[in-house]
Amino acid sequence: MREKYKKRILVTGGAGFLGSHLCDRLVERGDDVLCVDNFFTGSKANVAHLFERSNFELMRHDVTFPLYVEVDEIYNLACPASPIHYQHDPVQTTKTSVHGAINMLGLAKRCKAKILQASTSEVYGDPEVHPQKEEYWGRVNPIGIRSCYDEGKRCAETLFFDYYRQHQLKIKVVRIFNTYGPRMHPNDGRVVSNFIMQALRGEDITLYGDGTQTRSFCYVDDLIEAMIRMMDTSDDVTGPINIGNPGEFTMKELAEQVLELTGSRSQIIHLPMPADDPRQRRPDLDLANRVLNWAPSVPLRDGLKKTITYFEQLV
Ligand code: NAD
Ligand code: UDP
Ligand code: UDP
Repeated sequence: MREKYKKRILVTGGAGFLGSHLCDRLVERGDDVLCVDNFFTGSKANVAHLFERSNFELMRHDVTFPLYVEVDEIYNLACPASPIHYQHDPVQTTKTSVHGAINMLGLAKRCKAKILQASTSEVYGDPEVHPQKEEYWGRVNPIGIRSCYDEGKRCAETLFFDYYRQHQLKIKVVRIFNTYGPRMHPNDGRVVSNFIMQALRGEDITLYGDGTQTRSFCYVDDLIEAMIRMMDTSDDVTGPINIGNPGEFTMKELAEQVLELTGSRSQIIHLPMPADDPRQRRPDLDLANRVLNWAPSVPLRDGLKKTITYFEQLV
């Protein structure tokens, strides 16, 4: 028989970068964790260290198909997150966000489970408001090459709020800003993994545009803490709530920090700016500070050092 105090928690996309860190924390806390993944961008290796734990289970499954399991909480993270991966099969990306959300919401409805959506700062598009507050509706191109991801995630938010209003589901929506750390995919084309891999291999550092565009980078441990706090809030807290780190850096500054911390002699080269690339992005974290009693604690420099240590094993 199931131990009464244990929560049964489903993590979709649990074998990915963020999902695997979330599984680590939940398994450590003693919950029964069911990790579901189709291994499109995630891998068994990310969770292999959990296989021997009796409160961890891994299931290969694509969330665009229905899933019948019994759970108390669902963290819905399944979706490729980096531009090269989500643009590889854009129709599948939209399906994953939209059909995946419908299936997981249907599952939450039947099980009366609480459900958290890993949404994204991309819902703000290329923003005219800076820093981005949750009330801002965003400026998103509906027909561009990022749209499968941005609009898919926006539609998923819509579905969450309609299930909340129509079926009284217990929903939680977090909007995640750029997050980095160990287990990022080394070839996912994201700026932190690209720069570190290039620096460690002595290859040119590929700075897109003039490098003055900005991002704010959150270390993975800070993000996971906020996600778990969000799930544990009372039922009246739905979000959306921004999670990220307020430190804003230009991509040029990031390249220089990576060069310094790796001691690499790589050269910075400039490549054309990709289409629809947002000029600047920084979360307003006031709501997260108040509602979750949370603020990120890992400065970029410290997080980069830990991430570099991880990538060093891969080179
Ligand atoms: P990731 O690509 O490492 O993880 C996504 C996981 O989902 C992978 O394991 C992948 O195999 C799995 N997946 C993809 N499609 C699936 C499907 N149809 N069925 C089942 N599994 C599927 O990316 P990540 O950075 O860990 O992102 C996790 C979530 O957080 C995503 O929803 C992403 O949109 C969101 N997010 C991440 C960031 C970030 O900076 N990392 C920022 C904003 C939002
Ligand atoms: N669903 C699922 N697991 C469940 C319950 C539902 O995957 O345990 C899927 C189901 O395939 C359905 C979707 O979730 O298409 C939405 O379910 P809901 O009950 O909201 O809608 P309906 O079944 O009425 O279309
Ligand atoms: N970027 C870059 N060089 C790279 C990869 C990315 O200059 O090798 C830039 C990219 O143009 C963007 C920023 O870094 O302005 C962040 O890109 P990423 O794909 O990591 O995240 P997102 O654009 O989704 O925030």
